[in-house]
Amino acid sequence: MESIWQNTELPHFPPLWGDIHTDVLIIGGGMAGLCCAHTLQQAGVSCVVAEGGRLAGGTTGNTTAKITAQHGLCYDKLLRRFGTEGAQTYLQANLSAISEFASLAEEIDCDFTRADHTVYARSGMQLLETELAALEKLGYSAVFREKLPLPFPTAGGICFPDQAQFHPLKFLAGLTADLTIYENTPVLQLEPHLAITEKGKIHFSRAIVATHFPLLNKHGLYFLKLYQQRSYAVSLEGLPPLDGMYLEENGLSLRQSGSALILGGGGHRTGKRGGGYPALEAAVQRYFPDGTITNRWAAQDCMTLDGLPYVGQYSKHTPWLYVATGFQKWGMTNSMVAAQLLTALVLDKPHPCKDLLSPRRPMLRPQLAVNGWESAVNLLAPGLHRCTHMGCRLNWNPQEHSWDCPCHGSRFSRSGQVLNNPAVKPLPAFRRREPRDKK
Ligand SMILES: Cc1cc2nc3c(=O)[nH]c(=O)nc-3n(C[C@H](O)[C@H](O)[C@H](O)COP(=O)(O)OP(=O)(O)OC[C@H]3O[C@@H](n4cnc5c(N)ncnc54)[C@H](O)[C@@H]3O)c2cc1C
Repeated sequence: MESIWQNTELPHFPPLWGDIHTDVLIIGGGMAGLCCAHTLQQAGVSCVVAEGGRLAGGTTGNTTAKITAQHGLCYDKLLRRFGTEGAQTYLQANLSAISEFASLAEEIDCDFTRADHTVYARSGMQLLETELAALEKLGYSAVFREKLPLPFPTAGGICFPDQAQFHPLKFLAGLTADLTIYENTPVLQLEPHLAITEKGKIHFSRAIVATHFPLLNKHGLYFLKLYQQRSYAVSLEGLPPLDGMYLEENGLSLRQSGSALILGGGGHRTGKRGGGYPALEAAVQRYFPDGTITNRWAAQDCMTLDGLPYVGQYSKHTPWLYVATGFQKWGMTNSMVAAQLLTALVLDKPHPCKDLLSPRRPMLRPQLAVNGWESAVNLLAPGLHRCTHMGCRLNWNPQEHSWDCPCHGSRFSRSGQVLNNPAVKPLPAFRRREPRDKK
């Protein structure tokens, strides 16, 4: 089933036919790619977007579209990993991104509304207290709220006032107005200053990879530095409106959109077992028995090793190439931050996040061992169905009837078509046998 946003018709753009030249090529037309294109264009840089399918057909079309700088209980972790300056820089960049969305929404009709965002705990105050102390150190006035308007008991929550929410596709439809975009134009091959598509070549000075999972394996070690996490959402009608947006770390996410309540959760590493729709449906039955589910959808996002996105030069050996990825389910504000940072890099200007978000920062983190282990085990494991990205064994996903890769998160339909990158090639025909669904 489609997400609640996908009944909004985005403008259509033709595929590329022939050869063109541009200053900056942006590969991928999701939130990251289109924010980059808009920001570059505003700065006077000529750019084009090449989108492999339809605009916002990837994770962006399946987001919950909260615009907040409160990315779970992240600030205590960031403070310990990157010091006060690093954590403050991230916080400020994401708060500024909210203001940028607010200012753009004055011109774009996208259901933008201001709302508080609260991270709550079901029980136990310790994590909340530690996070509050970290925020105090960073000079940010978060508010502790003891009583929350949620249909289950909580120990309270940390509230970031005056955050925002919107309709992501209406926003992107507005953003595309003055952009040069080619849809159904996947970049098949990327070389220095040249991208090859099915029916044309794009000559560029620099390119930005905004393809969700980066498309080049040869550089940057993204296959070790990223994994994907799948999440589920449902929208419910027939309930009283919920004031504000809410999130429990590894638990339920809630926000209102018009008359619908959007409930998210059930997340797990792609290719592994996890809560999925059953966890969400159980929560609906228990806490929202009067609600009727109108839509249900699932999507995935790229997770990094240290809790910060990778935005900047793609790798040491590719000075002509940039990347924006690893948003860790916080890709609304982070796409805007990425757009501002990459525009500064293209213009050779300074930006406070340049070193902090650099994909070339030190990567020796425990998650690196987890990713390496997962890849080694699944590369060596026997099995007929193998991912066309790097050859890992695929696992059957009985809920979504797909073959999913636990290493890097590629997904294939029952008939072998690619549903999610980094894989680009379908499964070979002889491996497309219909599996029996096991629960
Ligand atoms: C269930 C869920 C809920 C979320 N909720 C929130 C939220 O409330 N707030 C928040 O801030 N973030 C949220 N996120 C995260 C956010 O939605 C994502 O981080 C963001 O949408 C990613 O945007 P993107 O542009 O990087 O990727 P995408 O939207 O996936 O765009 C990538 C595009 O690149 C194209 N592409 C791929 N390969 C090629 C190629 N070779 N050539 C050309 N084009 C190509 C694809 O077709 C696609 O359109 C959520 C994520 C999930 C999964």
